[in-house]
Amino acid sequence: MEQLTLDQARSWLEAAALAMDENAAMLSELDNPIGDGDHGVNMARGFVAVRKKVSSTAVPDMGALFKLVGMTLLSTVGGAAGPLYGGFFLELGRSTAGKTAIAKAEVGEMLTRGLADIQRRGKAELGDKTMVDALAPAVARFQSTPNTDIAAAMRSTEEAVKSAAEATTPMLARKGRASYLGERSIGHQDPGATSCWLLLRALASVCRDA
Ligand code: ADP
Ligand code: MG
Repeated sequence: MEQLTLDQARSWLEAAALAMDENAAMLSELDNPIGDGDHGVNMARGFVAVRKKVSSTAVPDMGALFKLVGMTLLSTVGGAAGPLYGGFFLELGRSTAGKTAIAKAEVGEMLTRGLADIQRRGKAELGDKTMVDALAPAVARFQSTPNTDIAAAMRSTEEAVKSAAEATTPMLARKGRASYLGERSIGHQDPGATSCWLLLRALASVCRDA
């Protein structure tokens, strides 16, 4: 798979919406012990709205599509994750403005810029027990895969993001609600890192079926 097309980007969002819906209870359960138990509900609500918007709006290119997603998430998700995922997709939109298909290097650049936006807004560093601990290793893995095959890179990225999300369990939270718990945040997998895994797994599945 040498290019990610506008249609495949739409399919990614459909798959992500399905994954957030199916896993809403699991994400909220993860948010219970170290947060306020709303992460799954927040993400599912946001992606239901995304699915509606995306299926009812004609967009000329990926930039417009991702901008629409970002705006929708900003206005529907709420909490800490809403502005972070919203900003992520707005940055993906800026990165793909005017394009209807992108090659692997551009996918890598878009994800890198999305990660940078999350870190600019949220100020989380690696090891703070947030979505950054899933996304940063995922982007690094994607970038480190050698050839131009996006599906192969995403297969490897999917593995990396899954283990990175799991690796948040022993971390002590230093950002967001979970940080109020101090030591008691240790021993629980971070909900935002887990939703990030679902988001990238959805992209990997679309690439696999392409
Ligand atoms: P809230 O904590 O406001 O209820 P959510 O439950 O929707 O928001 O999202 C919580 C998730 O947001 C956390 O699991 C974490 O991954 C992520 N998060 C919180 N603060 C930050 C931050 N400053 N930078 C990056 N991610 C963050
Ligand atoms: Mg919460």
